[in-house]
This record gives sequence, C-alpha cells and structure tokens, in this order.
Amino acid sequence: MLNNPYINTRTKVLCVIGHPIEHSMSPSMHNAALKELSLDFVYLAFDVSPKDLEKAVLGFKKHDMKGINVTIPHKEAIIKYLDKIDPLAEKIGAVNTIKNINGQLIGRNTDAFGAKKALIDTGFELRSKKALIIGAGGAARAISFALSDEIDEIFICNRNEKRAIRLAKDLKDSTKTTATGRTLSNEVLKSLIDKVDLLINTTPLGMYPDVEKTPIPQKLLANHLFVYDIIYNPLKTQLLKDACEIGCKTLNGIDMFINQGALAFEWWTDMKPNINTMKEKILELLAKK
Ligand code: NAP
Repeated sequence: MLNNPYINTRTKVLCVIGHPIEHSMSPSMHNAALKELSLDFVYLAFDVSPKDLEKAVLGFKKHDMKGINVTIPHKEAIIKYLDKIDPLAEKIGAVNTIKNINGQLIGRNTDAFGAKKALIDTGFELRSKKALIIGAGGAARAISFALSDEIDEIFICNRNEKRAIRLAKDLKDSTKTTATGRTLSNEVLKSLIDKVDLLINTTPLGMYPDVEKTPIPQKLLANHLFVYDIIYNPLKTQLLKDACEIGCKTLNGIDMFINQGALAFEWWTDMKPNINTMKEKILELLAKK
C-alpha cells in the first residue's frame, strides 16, 4: 500500500485519531481491505492531543474527511463536537466511529457490535447467562450495553468502584439486565466466580509490554467459565493462558477489533470488507512485534 499510485485529488480520506496513535493497526487493516476492493479511499492516522480535539473535528468537516475512528483518549470527549450520535452510543457514552454525511458528523459505537459478534460467533449462548466484567471504562460500557439485551445479570468489578457503580446504574436505568458494581479485589472476584458463566477482561492488564500482568489470579478461576480477554496484543494473554490451562473456553480480542473495523468500513463505503484480509493483516503485524 506504500506509495499507492492511485491516490488522486478525488481520493476520499478516512482516518483514526488518538493520543498516542503510532501503534494503531487500523490504517494497515483498513487499507488492505480498501485495496482489495479497489476503493478510491485512503485511511490515515493522526495523533491528536486532547487540547486539539475541537480543532481536529473542525478540520474533518472543513476538509470533508469521510470517516473517522476514534481511540483512547477521545471516545467520550469527542461526543460534544458531533452533530448527532446514535442511541446506543449515547447510552454507552462513547463513540469510536464517525461518518461525515453532507458535512454532518454522525457518531456510533461499533465496539459494542464487534465484541458481541465475536462472542456469539464462538457459539456462546448469551440467554440466561451471568457475566463478570472486569473494568468499567469505555470498552466495558460498550460490551455491557451490547450484552444487556440478552444476558440475565452483569457484575462489574473495577479498581475505581464509583465508576463500576455508575455503569451498573446506567445499565439498570436503561436495560432489563440486573447489574451490580463492585470494587476490583481478589475477595470480591472470589465471591462472584461461582455465580457467573462468562468472565470478560476489559482492562489493559496483560497487554504488551506488561504481558505478565493479569486481572485475576489463576487460583480464582474455575473451569466452568468462558473467559474473554479483549486484548489482542498479545493474542494469548496471561489470563487466557491461565484459563486454558485449567480447561476454560477462551476468546481473545482480535475478532472484536476486526468486527468493529468491518462495521465502520461498511458504513463509510457501503461495501462489505473481506474479514479474512483484515485479520491476516493484523496477524502479520502482530507476528512482527
Ligand atoms: P479506558 O476507558 O481507559 O478504561 C480502562 C479500564 O481499565 C478502567 O476500568 C480502568 O480502571 C482499568 N484499568 C486500567 N489500568 C488498570 C490497572 N492497572 N489495574 C486495574 N484496572 C485498571 O480504556 P478502554 O477503551 O475501556 O480500553 C480498555 C482495554 O480494552 C485496552 O486494553 C484496550 O486496548 C482494549 N480494547 C480492545 C478493543 C478491541 O477491539 N479488541 C476495543 C477497545 C478497547 P479505573 O476506572 O479504575 O481507572
């Protein structure tokens, strides 16, 4: 994709913004899919510091940027600069995908769809299940709202307990799920493990380069659990290694990442990307790390 000879004055621009942004795999993933479909788009990455966010959004409108992915730390802060957001993104309180429709910036949350699809695609049946979500940040909010229409009960454990309680309240206020927010401690985790079927890590604990970290000690895990870690670098975190070792079914974050990207791609271009091409590109990048 380097030095693409087809880029011209009519080429439409997509991008991801974050701070920092240099490790983002979104440009490689999207450009591989765009190239395969011969679409006249290019996908770039911009490092936007929080103080420059408003100016960046004005720039997107002025220069007719067609689509924007938003990553840490802007997913919540960007909402006030958008013209409209969809009801799910509003409930979640975070936007990770924007489409420029005739100069209007419309926000959505495709992380929610991406995470749920990845889980369902493993054959996991959500109905009548109980989940324990570790973390209460943007990803935890997206996943808990995505699961809330089918799952019976959600426990949220977070280092900052107030944030967990707030998410539980938001879930109870706008969904049928029973939700409880607790502090993240081994004692609390121990008391919840037998009650739940699904454990989801949404914290960065275990992410490269701190690969030895884990949000829950192996001795607290049990083999009836389905363990889902949304980290994809590394593909097998310490949590997933521990869970596999005792016989749990597991899922990593790569399919969530690809699904959220594929939905954004389709929204922007009206074309379905080749998921396999996107996945191969990410696996290729991860293998080089
Ligand atoms: P975020 O909004 O900043 O939330 C981070 C969460 O992790 C918070 O609940 C935070 O707790 C907790 N946390 C951070 N450091 C911790 C530590 N040392 N010990 C315990 N808890 C800690 O970030 P996010 O957007 O939700 O992203 C979280 C993770 O999900 C990242 O690793 C990100 O790469 C991954 N992610 C993956 C995908 C995918 O497509 N696979 C998509 C989105 C995000 P406090 O509230 O106490 O600070």
